Amino acid sequence: MNEIVILSGKGGTGKTSVAASFAVLSKRAALADADVDASNLSLLLDPRVRRKEVYRAGLEAVVRLEECGDCAVCAGVCRFNALRPSDTHTRPAFQVDSFLCEGCGRCVPMCPRGIIEMRERTVGEWMESDTRAGPLVHARLEPAGENSGKLASLVKREARRVAAERGLGLLLVDGPPGVGCSAIAALSGASLVLFVAEPTVSGLHDFERAADLARHFTVPAALCVNKWDIHPVAADSLEAKARKMNVRPLQRVRYDPSVVSAQRRGKTVVEEDSAAAQDVRDLWREVTAA
Ligand code: SF4
Ligand code: SF4
Repeated sequence: MNEIVILSGKGGTGKTSVAASFAVLSKRAALADADVDASNLSLLLDPRVRRKEVYRAGLEAVVRLEECGDCAVCAGVCRFNALRPSDTHTRPAFQVDSFLCEGCGRCVPMCPRGIIEMRERTVGEWMESDTRAGPLVHARLEPAGENSGKLASLVKREARRVAAERGLGLLLVDGPPGVGCSAIAALSGASLVLFVAEPTVSGLHDFERAADLARHFTVPAALCVNKWDIHPVAADSLEAKARKMNVRPLQRVRYDPSVVSAQRRGKTVVEEDSAAAQDVRDLWREVTAA
């Protein structure tokens, strides 16, 4: 199965807009939104959720409040100040603040009543949905939820399963910005990574870091300079840097206010006629030929 992953060195470069447009143009792809910290692909594709699953990762302590003797021994051993008197329970009891609990397990053997146990922590959910552009696997991570890399891997794994079940030969992945664990997870197994970058000084720096990642994992890579005409000289520099890093520059996309107005109507840019829409169609032709 071919896997095309769309990445950017930072957020706000138009990566998701390109990914959603590719999904609409492809008509034969399964879709994965591996940007689990800020899942936006679904905003453009209006998904109908068919399946929803809880995502658990890591451990947290839980107190059986009814049996608590209010002795405060547990609070004395917790280095993270996660055990506190409950302000909601009807009788004195200590409870765990799950935002502060680091899951170290130190409090468990210290409780004289043996009423603290470690449980898997619920940190988000993942969904399998239908969209007008094809089946989509996406996820939502709780604020401060950890293990975004593991969740991004799960999203990709489930999207591959969906693609196989439906006989789809292509997986389109909207990856996260940056070079963290979830970007590595998104890259894993890719046939091609397309970087979307803007022609600015920080855009050049962010692109270099992201392209280094693709080079490290020996994934074939291409570049699209988005809004290239806001700074043509910087766009040239980006593409020159890309060539040096063995990243192939493809069709540029010009700045076009119609991209945002299409998004406001819940559409991808290629579902309406505009100059940028033509650029993205040309880009898609090059990507599929790459
Ligand atoms: S598991 Fe560790 S961090 Fe969590 S409440 Fe117990 S001692 Fe504190
Ligand atoms: S050590 Fe056990 S009994 Fe004592 S306050 Fe903590 S949870 Fe309650």
